Amino acid sequence: LLIVGVIGAAFVAFQWSGPTFDPESLKGARVLVTGASAGIGEQMAYHLAGFGAQVVITARREKVLQQVAEKCQVLGPQKALYIAADMANPSDPERVVKFAVDKLGGLDYLVLNHIGPSPFTMWDGDVEHTRWLMQVNFLSYLQMAKTALPTLKQSKGSIVVVSSLLGKMSSPFVAPYTSTKFALNGFFGTLQHELAMQRSNVSITICILGLIDTDSAMEKVRGMTNIQAWPASEAALHIITSGATQQTESYYPWFWYYVCLIRDWFPYFRDMSLRNLYKY
Ligand code: NDP
Repeated sequence: LLIVGVIGAAFVAFQWSGPTFDPESLKGARVLVTGASAGIGEQMAYHLAGFGAQVVITARREKVLQQVAEKCQVLGPQKALYIAADMANPSDPERVVKFAVDKLGGLDYLVLNHIGPSPFTMWDGDVEHTRWLMQVNFLSYLQMAKTALPTLKQSKGSIVVVSSLLGKMSSPFVAPYTSTKFALNGFFGTLQHELAMQRSNVSITICILGLIDTDSAMEKVRGMTNIQAWPASEAALHIITSGATQQTESYYPWFWYYVCLIRDWFPYFRDMSLRNLYKY
């Protein structure tokens, strides 16, 4: 009864938390989205353009970015600019933020979403890959946040960090990737505290996603698991609305919130279930 009561209270608190999303609030908003040539980032660019936001998108492949920007321009009358950059290059994160601030005349949202490719296999002892992935998936986020913070303070803006359930729970086959997501949750969780203690007007939203049906994710897990994947366009909309309503943490799909809430209650069964999700 106690357990049911706790879960019920948490459910009600979760469902009622935060303001409702007003699409008008994004009209003219200046948004930088990373990893926007494909997957969830690309879908976010389309939603934002539809809401009338001004977007700068970035990723490595310039030709693909150009196509995404052109589609944004059709969906919304506002600016849709792009800049090619490789987040493995330590000088690119700052260069991208400066480009966006310069072209948009400031910034309201910094949406950190990109990830570098990483194998879906048991760890083979490759430390160098994890070091490289840390730069792409983690350190570049810090560099961009640092560069954007003074501008975001002026605009009462937001940083939106796209994270994963794999930043909350360890799981097989993703050691380097999961490390970068745990690092993100830890770092930006701390920054949330510190900005609140300084009474800063900059908000940070951390989005925790389950499996999403992007091409890259589906390619990795095909034949390995039957976990249900959720639509990238819905995930993208969820991230945007969570950022626009300044939630500190959000979950898509929603039920992963409850899984995270009770994940340490029965560790043996949790770990057995996690391993049984995969064919090996
Ligand atoms: P994708 O692999 O589909 O897209 C990754 C994006 O990052 C692409 O635009 C890619 O473009 C860009 N990118 C890759 N390497 C670099 C680099 N070195 N420098 C700059 N940009 C780079 O990812 P998803 O859409 O699947 O995931 C988006 C976010 O959602 C990630 O943060 C991921 O961790 C999170 N997430 C996804 C889940 C899923 O199941 N899909 C589950 C949980 C979380 P290009 O190749 O042109 O550089």
